[in-house]
Amino acid sequence: MSDNLDITNTEENQNKENENKDSGNKEKYEKVCVLCHRTESKAGKMIELPGGFTVCPDCMQKAFDVMNNSEMKDMMNLQNLPNISMIRLDDMQNAFPKQQKIKKKEPKEKKPEKIMDIRSIPAPHRIKASLDDYVIGQEHAKKVISVAVYNHYKRVFTNTMDEIEIEKSNMLMIGPTGSGKTYLVKTLARLLDVPLAIADATSLTEAGYIGDDIESVISKLLAAADNDVEKAERGIVFIDEIDKIAKKKNTNQRDVSGEAVQQGMLKLLEGSEVEVPVGASSKNAMVPMATVNTRNILFICGGAFPGLEDIIKERLNKQAAIGFRSDLKDKYDKDPDLLSKVALEDLRNFGMIPEFIGRLPVVFTLRELDKDMLVKILKEPKNAILKQYQKLLELDEVKLEFAEDALEAIAEKALEKDTGARALRAIIEVFMLDIMYEIPKDDNIGQVLITRAYIEHRGGPVITMRGQLQLPLDR
Ligand code: ADP
Repeated sequence: MSDNLDITNTEENQNKENENKDSGNKEKYEKVCVLCHRTESKAGKMIELPGGFTVCPDCMQKAFDVMNNSEMKDMMNLQNLPNISMIRLDDMQNAFPKQQKIKKKEPKEKKPEKIMDIRSIPAPHRIKASLDDYVIGQEHAKKVISVAVYNHYKRVFTNTMDEIEIEKSNMLMIGPTGSGKTYLVKTLARLLDVPLAIADATSLTEAGYIGDDIESVISKLLAAADNDVEKAERGIVFIDEIDKIAKKKNTNQRDVSGEAVQQGMLKLLEGSEVEVPVGASSKNAMVPMATVNTRNILFICGGAFPGLEDIIKERLNKQAAIGFRSDLKDKYDKDPDLLSKVALEDLRNFGMIPEFIGRLPVVFTLRELDKDMLVKILKEPKNAILKQYQKLLELDEVKLEFAEDALEAIAEKALEKDTGARALRAIIEVFMLDIMYEIPKDDNIGQVLITRAYIEHRGGPVITMRGQLQLPLDR
């Protein structure tokens, strides 16, 4: 008796399970139009025809139009036969497959990368701690940016901007190529989960000239915010290569890509209403427009400012020469931190107009990366390049190791290129290509150690087979 009961129970359970599966599948599958093959989500609600066929409203309409077309009726001699059915469903039964559904695309899982909530913006030290996980060194820059962002979003969400005119914390970031300017801003925007638009100042020109006009950066931001104006209005705009729009010296022509761009940006930086096209990069009659207020948008400008160090040095030397304690003339020649001594006056001498610099009240510098920092960049950030390769090889169950002096060799090579951390990936990719190509050939390989000799083309990597004892390595 109890056995029987058990059986019915399991049968019932089985049935229920199948039902559940079916209903689950129903949600995963969607109907497809038998004529145009578009899915229900694209073509609209399907019309069910006898025989299990589904047709989309468009195709149904087309079929009616064709039938009502008098020429067609003439041709087929059907003039006098109203309400005639031109589609023979019986014929269709054999012509089309029975399974008339295709699987819906699974919605992409969005990684919950957002760590902070800008509405209750965390204290600056917590913002910096999150940045520390990704950005190596640049302590001063991280500190300044954390405080500026904290102040900015606090003002935005407590709406104190209206009561007291508090200056916006737009920033100017000065640092050599590959020192992490773009990376810092990108990381920040990702952590705060705010939309970010990155534009290159060199591509901007005064409205009406060839190139993108200045407002196109807001259009980009709107696109990054999925056309959500409110979201875009509290986003971040990063304008790179800002030094390239310095006032051109000794020119008689109209400076449409230099000073005029600086002038044109003043309004945006300060806060104004901008009409931008939605979902397109240029304004034309067909594109709907949206009005975006830039008052709460955080603008960060970045540039390498080549030659700025000389301007700073000249000023400092001049100052030093006229004091009571006049210093040696070459005092600043070898100062590695010269850039951080920048003053507004230097930027003006470089060619930035005073009104423009005035609207970027937070000015800070990034240091050139040295060998130690480059080595750290290779291995320490949460998404470090080495970790990425290690993960890839781990999928083949191969352990990838790097000898410390191999990392130093990579850093030394990168320093020679003078493009900061940017060179690292290019160098690694060259030799990792061979590793990624050769290693999966042999299933017995358990571990690969990259050595300095391998980086310097004096030897190969040390390979350990699975199950073998790790041999002492000759490093
Ligand atoms: P730039 O200063 O020219 O804008 P980027 O921010 O584009 O330089 O840096 C290039 C790449 O180098 C980044 O994508 C990042 O991977 C790496 N990088 C640069 N600086 C750092 C840093 N301080 N910490 C970690 N990675 C860095």
